[in-house]
Amino acid sequence: MRLILIGGLSDCILGEIDCWGNEVESDMRIGLLNLEPKYKNLAIEKLRLYHQQQGDKVEDYFALCGYDKVYASSIFTFTKKDIIPQGAICGGSGFDLTTVLPSEIEDIKPRLNFGFTTRGCIRHCSFCIVPQKEGHIRPIAHLYDLWDEKSKLITLYDNNILALPQHFEIICSEAIHYGITLDFNQGLDHRLLTNTNVKLLKAISHKEYHFAFDHPSYQASVERALVLLKEAGINRAIWYVLVGFNTSPEEDLQRLNYLRNMGQRAFVQRYDKNKHRYFYQAIADWSGFHNLFATKTFEEFLELRSDRIKNRKDILLSLGQ
Ligand code: SF4
Repeated sequence: MRLILIGGLSDCILGEIDCWGNEVESDMRIGLLNLEPKYKNLAIEKLRLYHQQQGDKVEDYFALCGYDKVYASSIFTFTKKDIIPQGAICGGSGFDLTTVLPSEIEDIKPRLNFGFTTRGCIRHCSFCIVPQKEGHIRPIAHLYDLWDEKSKLITLYDNNILALPQHFEIICSEAIHYGITLDFNQGLDHRLLTNTNVKLLKAISHKEYHFAFDHPSYQASVERALVLLKEAGINRAIWYVLVGFNTSPEEDLQRLNYLRNMGQRAFVQRYDKNKHRYFYQAIADWSGFHNLFATKTFEEFLELRSDRIKNRKDILLSLGQ
């Protein structure tokens, strides 16, 4: 969620009262536009804090208001950009992967109980933008830097925290010390599980763990990970299952069936939404209903939902049936 400058200022309305009728102390009025509002946006929050510290009037962008400066941030390239006002300063991986916030803004720690304690990754998965965007992994913060000292939950967006064992141990110790539940929102790398880190994962208060089973070639390492997790008493996790990238529908269904048989949950991540559209929608729905996924085979699910699933023929065609 980095920002790149693409333009100048929007139309300028300088005055004492904002468009909500509130008094404005500073001359500068800043509008912040998060193009994916259902996701928290760290860059937007850093900009908010930075401009508040400058004494500027900062608010979420509203099209009818006038601003001296508008920042727009987007994570996904597929998000529509047509609501961005002319002259806005735009950034984030939805626009560009290489430019960064100025260091005086990037270094701000908003303490909103979410964020990163590391940036980067040790791997180079061909479908992922993290290595290009963030480079090699390194620690950037402690849990305390993200915490407002009140919340009982911190959501971490670290992309591969298990790749830094010492740092991971410190973060877990801090979570235990401050009584904080951790949500490793981006998932953990199952290939890096060890006897030591699974014990830590078990010891901390946590949201359900997420791992990824991105390709059938990881079958052996997933099996090994499940043994380690079960030995530590972590009997269930949610597994991201990448589809529509370099696997066939049969392989995708096999991975889902394996996870299901092992008592795991799955979350289907579609790389290309147009490929095998109806099949991928159906397996995403099936795995999305955790109870149905646990109790019904895919065929039983299709039967059960036959009133709603209109393209059964296309679904079976994708499976070569
Ligand atoms: S391990 Fe995860 S973060 Fe790292 S490159 Fe692969 S998908 Fe991206």
